[in-house]
Amino acid sequence: MIDKINRLKAEIDALKASKADEIEALRIKYLSKKGEISLLFNDFRNVAAENKKEVGKLLNELKEKALNRINELKENLDSNSQENNLIDLTRTAYPVNVGTRHPISLVKNEICEIFGRLGFSIAEGPEIEDDWHVFSSLNFAEDHPARDMQDTFFIQRSPDILLRTHTSSVQTRVMEHSQPPIRIICPGRVYRNEAISARAHCFFHQVEALYVDKNVSFADLKQALLFFAKEMFGPDTKIRLRPSYFPFTEPSAEMDISCNLCGGKGCSFCKHTGWVEILGCGMVDPNVLEACGIDSKIYTGYALGMGIERITNLKYQVKDLRMFSENDQRFLEEFESAH
Ligand SMILES: [Zn+2]
Repeated sequence: MIDKINRLKAEIDALKASKADEIEALRIKYLSKKGEISLLFNDFRNVAAENKKEVGKLLNELKEKALNRINELKENLDSNSQENNLIDLTRTAYPVNVGTRHPISLVKNEICEIFGRLGFSIAEGPEIEDDWHVFSSLNFAEDHPARDMQDTFFIQRSPDILLRTHTSSVQTRVMEHSQPPIRIICPGRVYRNEAISARAHCFFHQVEALYVDKNVSFADLKQALLFFAKEMFGPDTKIRLRPSYFPFTEPSAEMDISCNLCGGKGCSFCKHTGWVEILGCGMVDPNVLEACGIDSKIYTGYALGMGIERITNLKYQVKDLRMFSENDQRFLEEFESAH
């Protein structure tokens, strides 16, 4: 019997199994009720009394050895299967498609970055607005055409809930809740009730800037505009201001830049004038400051606003406004990769 125990010990030491069912078969072979070790325990009663102590000890050692060995095999199997699940670093990589930034985002980021260097911080507000923030606080007359259903998407007529027609509503919201100095830039989407064509859309994007403080003058506005034009369109860019009218600024102006396609000589893009209109601006009307709780005897300010699509067209010569919202990948992939 001792011989048999020793033979089994050697056998168990040499056991190998790489699959769960193989290990289970070994467990049955040695440790089940009819397994070899159990049979030895059955034979134990036939061992001579004087040898019982020695044989008993060996038998218990054998059983423990078999249990340990089977558990060891199971543990190896578990850790191996975990390793198999890890990524195979030697495999050829899948091609990774890097997306591109939308041209509107590229230009918006660039505008915000340029004004960021002048100390402007970004402010945002809701796209669903009320009459007060979009029109009344901004000095729009009761009968102003922008308040008409023809131009504005109203969600509810009374109380007046509408999709904002410009980002100036964000300026109102900031001025209502803070006191000067205020130096903000407001990028965002705006909505107007227009027929969709190559040159007009029912939604587009704006960036507006607002600076309110003591002694802010028209000269400050002009300097900021010149800085922006040169940073955006190149150091040779010239600007010109033409008198204009907006309800919320007085005086108001529209700014042209020298045509960056022909360098001011005249081409079909600038309609042979050498100039291209890019934004509206002016000194904040005192009525607007007062409506927002800012003392217009102490503070003055300037505001300016531009359509991002317009600037993008100038920079990338996109002929059709609809391209920006059609999600045509052939168009979008022409722009810089997102990193
Ligand atoms: Zn031109």
